[in-house]
Amino acid sequence: MEIKQPSLAAVSAESFYKIEARGNGIYRISESLGVGESLILGKERALLIDTGYGLRDIRPAIRQITDLPLVVMNSHVHTDHTGCNGAFETVYVPGGEMPKVFDGSLDRERLLLFQSLRQSRPHLRQFMVDKENWETPPGGTRYLPLPERIDLGGREMELEIIGGHTPQSTMVIDPASRTAFVADGIGTQVWLFLHPFGTVQEYSESLRRFSRRTDVDILQLSHKREPMPFSFAAYYADFVLRARIRNSVVWPNNRFDVTVYRYTEPESPYGAVSMFYCASNLG
Ligand SMILES: [Zn+2]
Repeated sequence: MEIKQPSLAAVSAESFYKIEARGNGIYRISESLGVGESLILGKERALLIDTGYGLRDIRPAIRQITDLPLVVMNSHVHTDHTGCNGAFETVYVPGGEMPKVFDGSLDRERLLLFQSLRQSRPHLRQFMVDKENWETPPGGTRYLPLPERIDLGGREMELEIIGGHTPQSTMVIDPASRTAFVADGIGTQVWLFLHPFGTVQEYSESLRRFSRRTDVDILQLSHKREPMPFSFAAYYADFVLRARIRNSVVWPNNRFDVTVYRYTEPESPYGAVSMFYCASNLG
């Protein structure tokens, strides 16, 4: 049976993107698929961290918040963080992950995601707008490597590679609000998409380096609405080093052609904490 869909005009982009003012010129734009983007306003520009799954154009949601010129970036090159890139003239991505923007994998993943969502989450069909119907910049999207700092006018953001989740997963630090926007680089269940490169040891070292900062109180994750305390970074730096094959379980998955393991500590001070990794990551 065909599910009756409301007309597109009746469903605004705003009802797919939920906007939440966090104070300090920070907005979280959440999608009903469990990912959220951050918009940070300076005096002259606004920074959009990540562009979501791209089921719908995110621009109308942003324009509800600000008319400032946008600086658009991806914390890392994964489908759920890059979906609306095509809507923007320029998108900054971690330099080392730039090849993934052009290798066709994002389009393939997006297509598969749309196919599976149409089956598994039929209520989302109403939101899915084929990219062909989007108004895009005439010259297409230009990609540039992320700089080390982004000046929004009276507000300077600092960028730091944390790695772990992807080779150059990058966090944005906003000293004005003492917030680090860590995307998927830190969290209670980080997936290490590093196989066959990258080790847990290296990841732990960058977590440790980050944990020594004195200008951060809050971690804002992509897949978790509530911020986490900064102290979690130091905790996670130790936690990841405790993972061994013998204390982990095999985690069935179709993302890797090698075995994925899940290491969990169910009762940490931060609730259940996990890490997903491959044997190669143990170095
Ligand atoms: Zn990711």
